[in-house]
Amino acid sequence: MDDKVIEVTCPKCGIRIKNTVSWFKKPGNCCPGCQLRFSTERFKHSIEEAEKIAMA
Ligand SMILES: [Zn+2]
Repeated sequence: MDDKVIEVTCPKCGIRIKNTVSWFKKPGNCCPGCQLRFSTERFKHSIEEAEKIAMA
């Protein structure tokens, strides 16, 4: 399930990052554009949204 590829838009710099759900949830990973960590609340929200879209 977490191997699903999703496309997440960074809430800070706006770039689109395409990778697996498990990669986005890996502690310490961050945006390649602005280094905002995926563990921040803002990013978590974007990841959740991308997961919803991927499921639809
Ligand atoms: Zn960014």
